[in-house]
Amino acid sequence: MDKLNRKAIIAGNWKMNKTASEAAVLIDELIPAVKDAGCEVVICTPYTSLVTAVEKTKGTNIHVGAENVHFEDHGAFTGEISASMLTDLGVEYVVIGHSERRQYFAETDQTVNKRTLAALNGGLKVILCVGESLTQREEGVTEELVRMQVKIALQGVTAEQMANLVIAYEPVWAIGTGRTATADQAEEVCAQIRKVVGELYGEAVAKATTVQYGGSMNAKNAEELLSKPDVDGGLIGGASLKAPDFAAIVAAATNG
Ligand code: PEP
Repeated sequence: MDKLNRKAIIAGNWKMNKTASEAAVLIDELIPAVKDAGCEVVICTPYTSLVTAVEKTKGTNIHVGAENVHFEDHGAFTGEISASMLTDLGVEYVVIGHSERRQYFAETDQTVNKRTLAALNGGLKVILCVGESLTQREEGVTEELVRMQVKIALQGVTAEQMANLVIAYEPVWAIGTGRTATADQAEEVCAQIRKVVGELYGEAVAKATTVQYGGSMNAKNAEELLSKPDVDGGLIGGASLKAPDFAAIVAAATNG
């Protein structure tokens, strides 16, 4: 029953794909394909496509997010984008702590925490990514690692701000590999994440927090993953770049 009271969110993470012109074409395909969604639909696009995405999705049920945000509001940070720059454009969500940022751009739990606070204080909704590598899973430290990632990322986040934060469990070994976590593996870690949120903020916040799974979710496996009691949605990479595939996942969340 708790699941029915939570907001299911299917979010596309486009990564470094689509020029602004290509984004316009994809969004034109997505709008009719997801218009009857029974869940929240978000597309997180490269910075260069955000203006197009916000303009094109006005008056539709599609929400727009960025894929990262800097923790300072302005100043000498060449190449960075702040929360106020995003909200000024009409951007609503931001992905923080994606494993590709952690792996390739020296993102740490501490910088994830700083970005999370800056985003929430700046009026953005946060999709916070956590998850273990294959080695860490094989070493049996998934639970401890994910607990630690969540606890550090949420330092200084208030219970009220948790209403604007979604946690995405993304096992690194499943991202872009075609190797999906089983529905039971996804459920186990998503439930652990909810438990940590409960320890930090109490049962009511834990029950209300949306926890997504991400990692090679596609039109075929979405229904099973989304049927699990603690999996409230998905963060979708590859399959979010094809309108029919993304729409099928949205439909699975609607039914699930
Ligand atoms: C992602 O980028 O967050 C992701 C889950 O990618 P993919 O669906 O391609 O594994």
